[in-house]
Amino acid sequence: MLPGIMGLLQANEVIKLIVGIGETLVGRLLMFDALSSSFMELRLRRDPDCPVCGSAPARSPADVAALAGQ
Ligand SMILES: [Zn+2]
Repeated sequence: MLPGIMGLLQANEVIKLIVGIGETLVGRLLMFDALSSSFMELRLRRDPDCPVCGSAPARSPADVAALAGQ
């Protein structure tokens, strides 16, 4: 059941990005607590010094995925 809930939320985000409507979760982290059926949201800011997504990345997202074994 939980993978279905999260997959539905992810698919909804993709549709909003493709169609260009609504408010996406870009810059926000949405967390779902299945035991209490509640959502919590955190606003995230990009770290300009991040080695992956910062202003001068030292590693590409592909490097990170390779390190994670994906
Ligand atoms: Zn980053």
